[in-house]
Amino acid sequence: MLNIVLFGPPGAGKGTQSSKLVDKYNLIHLSTGDIFRYNIKNETDLGVLARFYIDKGNLVPDKVTIDMLQAEVKKNPNAKGFIFDGFPRTIPQAEALDVLMTELGTKVDLMLSLDAPEDELVERLLLRGKDSGRADDSNEEVIRNRIGVYNDQTAVAASYYDNQNKYFPINGVGSIDDIFEQLCSVIDKFN
Ligand code: ADP
Repeated sequence: MLNIVLFGPPGAGKGTQSSKLVDKYNLIHLSTGDIFRYNIKNETDLGVLARFYIDKGNLVPDKVTIDMLQAEVKKNPNAKGFIFDGFPRTIPQAEALDVLMTELGTKVDLMLSLDAPEDELVERLLLRGKDSGRADDSNEEVIRNRIGVYNDQTAVAASYYDNQNKYFPINGVGSIDDIFEQLCSVIDKFN
């Protein structure tokens, strides 16, 4: 199996690159943000709960997020591997992912981290908000809060993988294809 954590602040390009990576490497894409939005749209209990946090740009509590992610992974017993997009966002989530992977007889192979300057992130998200209808992309204050949450609560998760020599930062500014090539060249060393 090949299990990749795609990391980075909101607007860094994780979703865009994930869809290219799943095609190339035949992986299952698990985006916790997408799963939450699906639940919000369908007005499930999980969606109602998650919306309370997401609309403000805060993190959904770890227990809720971890339980959901575990269930999604277990729905794919024949997967060749996973791209985790937007998960883990905290150290407890990273630890829970390790436990889950060990249970399944596998592991996280690497964390690929995309980054871009804050003003560029805000600009990209406001642009995305115009088409996507995502409430959390339409309000600059919510966007800046999400970036703040990333810096304060999420960025530390990188050190968790760095300590295991699994952390690979990649510049998220450039053409989509150039960034994709850089991601692939790291992945291909593991394949
Ligand atoms: P972005 O990376 O652009 O912020 P996502 O779609 O990954 O967008 O996430 C949207 C929102 O969903 C986050 O702001 C957060 O509220 C919630 N969320 C997604 N993943 C997680 C997670 N792993 N832990 C807690 N909350 C999460």
